[in-house]
Amino acid sequence: MKLVCNKCGYRFESERIPEVCPYCGERGAITREKSAQEIIDEVAVDTDKQGNKQGE
Ligand SMILES: [Zn+2]
Repeated sequence: MKLVCNKCGYRFESERIPEVCPYCGERGAITREKSAQEIIDEVAVDTDKQGNKQGE
């Protein structure tokens, strides 16, 4: 999965989320980077609560 550091913005790929950023060393700053499609999907869910979730 793609990960990103919320402190320094460093992006990398890893099988699991490390405790500290490998670049700046900030603890707990690493989160999964959302793909553009995931961001679109979240907006779609917010604006369309009809219950007919597509995909998956
Ligand atoms: Zn960092």
